[in-house]
Amino acid sequence: MSHTRGARVAADGNNGTSAGPQVDVVVVGAGFSGLYLLHRLRAEGFSVRVFEAASDVGGTWFWNRYPGARCDIPTTDYTFGFDPELEREWTWSEKYATQPEILRYLQFVTDRYDLRRDITFDARVEGAEWDDKTGLWAVRTSTGETVSCRYYVMATGCLSVPKAPDIEGAPRFAGEVYFTSRWPHEGVDLTGKRVAVVGTGSSGIQSIPLIAQQAAQLTVFQRTPNFSIPAHNSPAPADRLGRLAADRDAYRTAGKWSRGGVPMEATDILGGTASEDVRRERFEAAWEAGELFAILGVFADQGVDPASNEIVSEMIREKLRSIVDDPETAEALCPKDHYLGTKRPCLDSGYYATFNLPHVRLVDLRKSPITTITEAGIDTAGESYEFDAIVYATGFDAMTGALVGVDVAGRGGVTLKEKWADGPSTYLGLTTAGFPNFFALTGPGSPSVLSNMAVSIEQHVDWVTDSLVDLRATGMTRIEPTLLAEDGWNQHVADCAAITLHPTANSWYMGANVPGKPRVFYPYIGGVDNYRAACDEVRARDYLGFRLSGPGGEQCHDGVVRRLQPDVAMVLSAMAQMELPPLESMSPPEARAFMEMSAGMRPPGPDVGEVVDGVLPGPAGELEYRLFRPASPGPHPVVLYFHGGGWVLGDQVSDEPLCRDLCVRTDAVVVSVNYRHAPEARCPAAAEDAWAALQWVGAHAIELGGIPDDLVLAGWSAGANLVAVVTQRARDEGGPVVRGQLLLTPATDSSMDTGSFEENADGYVLTAPLMRWFWDHYCDPGQRTEPTAAPLRGRLDGLPPAIVVTAEFDPLRDEGIAYAEALRAAGVPVEHLAARGHTHTSLTMVGVVLSGARVREEIALRLGALLREPVEV
Ligand code: FAD
Ligand code: NAP
Repeated sequence: MSHTRGARVAADGNNGTSAGPQVDVVVVGAGFSGLYLLHRLRAEGFSVRVFEAASDVGGTWFWNRYPGARCDIPTTDYTFGFDPELEREWTWSEKYATQPEILRYLQFVTDRYDLRRDITFDARVEGAEWDDKTGLWAVRTSTGETVSCRYYVMATGCLSVPKAPDIEGAPRFAGEVYFTSRWPHEGVDLTGKRVAVVGTGSSGIQSIPLIAQQAAQLTVFQRTPNFSIPAHNSPAPADRLGRLAADRDAYRTAGKWSRGGVPMEATDILGGTASEDVRRERFEAAWEAGELFAILGVFADQGVDPASNEIVSEMIREKLRSIVDDPETAEALCPKDHYLGTKRPCLDSGYYATFNLPHVRLVDLRKSPITTITEAGIDTAGESYEFDAIVYATGFDAMTGALVGVDVAGRGGVTLKEKWADGPSTYLGLTTAGFPNFFALTGPGSPSVLSNMAVSIEQHVDWVTDSLVDLRATGMTRIEPTLLAEDGWNQHVADCAAITLHPTANSWYMGANVPGKPRVFYPYIGGVDNYRAACDEVRARDYLGFRLSGPGGEQCHDGVVRRLQPDVAMVLSAMAQMELPPLESMSPPEARAFMEMSAGMRPPGPDVGEVVDGVLPGPAGELEYRLFRPASPGPHPVVLYFHGGGWVLGDQVSDEPLCRDLCVRTDAVVVSVNYRHAPEARCPAAAEDAWAALQWVGAHAIELGGIPDDLVLAGWSAGANLVAVVTQRARDEGGPVVRGQLLLTPATDSSMDTGSFEENADGYVLTAPLMRWFWDHYCDPGQRTEPTAAPLRGRLDGLPPAIVVTAEFDPLRDEGIAYAEALRAAGVPVEHLAARGHTHTSLTMVGVVLSGARVREEIALRLGALLREPVEV
């Protein structure tokens, strides 16, 4: 089916006879991605050649012709949305279309836009070399052709390279062998045969019920049971069709700006706190909907909280047990070794019921692993089986297989395979440093496989095409990401994954299915919406993180597009949407009432052994405290804690989640003591109270269940300021013994003129105006330079070891760093933890900002080392 091409001329007027390229762009692959890219580039006036290893278009839907192959995203959404006319001309027949229908659709698209004339079929791209002098790629194909181009785009698919059979003896089998991913075009008749299926991922789960209809005997070899829910296939769902018909553009826009590329109502219901009725109701609705994103979104927190995840998982297992007659088979089919969603769940049509058929048998490879494949069949540790046919549904070398499978050599001859030997490294999942003018669609670091790929593919294609149009308009001919931008993106991709349960699974998302493949989380899990926003921002900021050059000149706006921790960004964006009045616009009593109300809405923090309220004597009356005792038998070391709140707000319970977290992580008694607040009691009242608290707690350690002299002071923000102040005083007055000080994003000076104060003046909760408001209430200008208010100006030698924690996006960051440096210079042992991507408040948001947990764990480890009896955390 290859097609002859007419003469092509590159946009810079070259026909390939001199030093210029033969075409502007070479695209590899003619699936969803390659087809749409060809259409868009051509419409923008670029000359394009597409090479495709297959004999026709379709990609995934050309190759995966196994019985039962269907999409698992509803066809209302798993479809091109770029052209309303196209949508009017094509009607999907089912909620989840079969492979033949999707292939027909892609052929229809190809013909409708006359795409074939620029596609060369049966041509595998084997190599591509960048020439830094000419600024061109030379692309080599299996047909012996070499084509030069300005831009080289791999639209080679992220599930297009079948995993090689990694089972001992596989080549020996003398019967028929099939791969779901390379199913024969003429079909396969398994009638009356003894058939083995190896693998129970989506391909296995879709094909097994249909293979069972033909086979005389079917034996399913299962290594890992997978979660599957019924697809409830039917005509396209009326609600989605209705929304599309009512306002197509709004529906498509909602998909583009959704988490997964499918319009969905997001929930804020948490698994742990929902009532049993609500849990059941939400689960049953998702089960009935038969949609992946519905079962993955029963609770807002099921992707991050093991307990919440387990609620949904167990409900699926219950359903499964009610379908499968034999309890032992049912139990073997129950997934228990991974959290729901951390391996791709499946949609099935009669999968579990298939195991009730008398001729179908499940072999649990966890109990009885395959020892070898023989000429006649499969041997496991417990039994020998004979088969006429083996079907491998064993998956793909996903995300990177097709990219590193081509010998792509960038600057200096370094290949992609070499560069990515320890794992992929990309900017936006689309580009990689050292490989100018190279783009990979749906590559690692993009949302691709975690999303409705039709939507993601359109976004990738649009971004690449729009960028090439921009380059042409500005006389640029080269684009390459900087290392800074790329490292920043890799970090962001890893940060997003780290707060989820995903890294805990042996999934193909983690590269775990291919022996020797680097173990990292390959796709971007921050969401289609956030990804799109990041890509748009890069263009809007004039190609932030890219180096561009050409006859039009040279430019590089270097930088990192996403620096905040993803959950911190989410919280900030949610707060911005609430349009809360600034605290400094309120009176102190109003601000206190507002903070109290907000505190009532947050998660309470982890369980501790005991909570005790009490009072202790202060210089101007009693000071209230709340004590948090670990569940383990005492006595324990003691942490005396002072809350944050700019000396104006807060009390002994205002940082309760943080105190509980500290208590659990350090196995220490945490005593959170209140102090007098400004403006009613100005500086140094708070410090006087803190000093009284230190003396009292030091003297009453045994009564509190503490170990005498095993005391650390800890505080956050203004509370950390008090810690620094009273630690200096304890040194000067010869006690009580303080073994260490934890200063969490401390206020250490009153100058308010540091770099961080300017950089982070607005937008990160603690703003510059708010900090000024705090100082104005707390302290007269004349007093602000005294060490009792600004401990950075005090004498620092002879102080106990300090743990100083600073947050990147905090106006107080630089004064925290300055304090750590000054302590160190004075000979005090200091551990400085710089919390990347965090704000002044985010580390205290226990149970909300999950990325803060890693930092608090580090704090606890260091704190444990300061206490007399370090404890395992
Ligand atoms: P592909 O469709 O994989 O096309 C890539 C093409 O590149 C292939 O034709 C391949 O032959 C060609 N190629 C690769 N390397 C070379 C080379 N070196 N030289 C020449 N040609 C080359 N996603 C969803 O969102 N929803 C679904 O329901 C869904 N169902 C799926 C079902 C199956 C069975 C599989 C395997 C995947 C499914 N996916 C689904 C993911 C699916 O891969 C994408 O939705 C989409 O089809 C990918 O399109 P693509 O063009 O990017 O890649
Ligand atoms: P997969 O999810 O990787 O599943 C492969 C299966 O084979 C797993 O059960 C795996 O077990 C097993 N396996 C692999 N090597 C084995 C070995 N040596 N011995 C025994 N068992 C072995 O692959 P897939 O089913 O082809 O699906 C891949 C992805 O393609 C899906 O996740 C999905 O994104 C897409 N897809 C979608 C649909 C759809 O419904 N639209 C259909 C098919 C595919 P382990 O889990 O233990 O590794």
